[in-house]
Amino acid sequence: MALLQISEPGQSTAPHLHRLAVGIDLGTTNSLVASVRSGIADTLADGEGRHLLPSVVRYLKGADPVVGDVALAAAADDPLNTIASVKRIMGRGIDDVKTLGGTLPYEFAPGESGMPRICTAAGLYSPVEVSAEILRSLKRRAEASLGGDLSGVVITVPAYFDDSQRQATKDAGRLAGLPVLRLLNEPTAAAVAYGLDRKAEGVFAIYDLGGGTFDISILRLNRGVFEVLATAGDSALGGDDMDHAIADWMLRQAGVGVSGDPHGARRALRDARAAKHVLSQSAQAAVCVTRPDGSVWHGTLARAEFDALVNPIIERTVAPCRRVMRDAAITAADISEVVLVGGSTRMPRVRERAATIFCRTPLTDIDPDRVVAIGAAIQADILIGNKPSDEMLLLDVIPLSLGIEIMGGMVEKIIARNSTIPIAKAQDFTTFKDGQTAMAIHVVQGDRELVSDCRSLARFELRGIPPMVAGAGRIRVTFQIDADGLLSVSAQEQTSGAASSVVVKPSYGLSDAEIERMLRDSIVHAREDNDARNLREQQVDADRVVAALESALAADGDALLSAAERLEIEHKLSLLRSVRDGTDVACIRDGIDTLDRATREFAARRMDAGIRKALSGHRLDEFG
Ligand code: AMP
Repeated sequence: MALLQISEPGQSTAPHLHRLAVGIDLGTTNSLVASVRSGIADTLADGEGRHLLPSVVRYLKGADPVVGDVALAAAADDPLNTIASVKRIMGRGIDDVKTLGGTLPYEFAPGESGMPRICTAAGLYSPVEVSAEILRSLKRRAEASLGGDLSGVVITVPAYFDDSQRQATKDAGRLAGLPVLRLLNEPTAAAVAYGLDRKAEGVFAIYDLGGGTFDISILRLNRGVFEVLATAGDSALGGDDMDHAIADWMLRQAGVGVSGDPHGARRALRDARAAKHVLSQSAQAAVCVTRPDGSVWHGTLARAEFDALVNPIIERTVAPCRRVMRDAAITAADISEVVLVGGSTRMPRVRERAATIFCRTPLTDIDPDRVVAIGAAIQADILIGNKPSDEMLLLDVIPLSLGIEIMGGMVEKIIARNSTIPIAKAQDFTTFKDGQTAMAIHVVQGDRELVSDCRSLARFELRGIPPMVAGAGRIRVTFQIDADGLLSVSAQEQTSGAASSVVVKPSYGLSDAEIERMLRDSIVHAREDNDARNLREQQVDADRVVAALESALAADGDALLSAAERLEIEHKLSLLRSVRDGTDVACIRDGIDTLDRATREFAARRMDAGIRKALSGHRLDEFG
């Protein structure tokens, strides 16, 4: 694995050699696989021309699992062995799954390390295994359609997926025998499909309304770096709710009780969905209901009635949109593009509403069901090296942490290992000494605790910090890794605005073997590093106490201390100085505590003197 770049400029691996790469949208309801062929990204169909693969797996005793449409068709009759919506439980523990409660009809058994397993006629299966089954099916489809083994795969995940959900998705990919290049956030993939990554900068809203979930994400692109500013949504909102509303209306019109017969209700749901699809293109749709007595009701669902049924559901997307803008600290006017994702955004009413929420016409050219898979395919094609080497490389992960040196030769990690890039992160630091006007920033890479065990990448200095007491200056250090793998680090003092920055290119010179060794070392030395870190922390603490006391003695020692008192304090001070360079953490701590006790009275007197000075010349009632 390359470090921050997949291919260095001018060192691309044989661009003429086309390697097979695909993007996979592993969805809650449906999944898709796409690839770039002759420069055009598109989804791949199965032998029967179907692009969408229902994310449903049916386990049968003594037979191979069945995936997709065939499994979906059996869901109603065999719900316990037909697993749908497994994405909702990926990376979740057994307790989380229980709280998801009634929404999932399966029986769960605890598996290894708290991972739930689903009980089926064919045995117990973890969510990872179920997802792997879906991925395997897409792999077979891709290999049949592209005519060879896959060299690289990008799988998309929701932007809000946490580490364990991402890890579970990656594990599913590995289990399915897929060479997973990386995971990509779904909203980012949608933005990539529209080529938004080629813009210089912008803020984008990705509005994703599918069958069962609604997600809204705000992304910011800045010099090739996509940042997820905020996400919100509703995990139980989508086209299915509309199907229910329409089906209930149809049954009411036909004079049939909603809770009547389950078969009739299921049929009504299917017909309601078909009518909804028709109404995305036509002003009305013909509907019918077969009553339990065999008679048939025929009716028409007109646009006005339809809108009245679905509007309350569409309106429920408004609050999350407002919230996400508030969380991202932006207004609709800041948004430069709106991308629509998910089958339900085919509805004209949904498009209109998205347009009014964000005050701009959404992008709709790409099929909203396929847009995420297409973006993933474009990324996979670049990552596998099918594009010329100067093509913008959007994403990768950093295999070693990046940070800066802090007092005591320790490393404060700012971007953690395995973070996907592009990425931007900021952290605040304070000044260490009274009157400090400059700060040296030393950028390092590695996962060890001490700077001496990490790789030095760059040094620069922030000057022009206004003199303040120690700890009062606030310096914000920002790390940004752009699409080309370029790391830039900037530092800014927050009160004065003094700024300084440097561009670093850390990918040169560190081989895969070196990365591996550094990772191995960080594990082997974890304990030792921890001890070293503790020691350094105590030493830094000691230095701070010594420096503060020295300046207090110089200022007020003569005025506020008797000769004996001063001697006593200086004795404790020299004791601390003598143990400071040793390796005994407890001894240094002891020295600090002793000195602290010995100087408490002195500190109190200084405070009184300070107050007296501040009050002199004023009457007490001025402060009342
Ligand atoms: P997804 O979860 O993104 O696959 O979206 C599936 C949802 O999109 C389902 O509720 C479908 O009924 C809905 N959908 C698909 N096509 C259309 C359409 N033409 N008009 C309205 N809804 C649609």
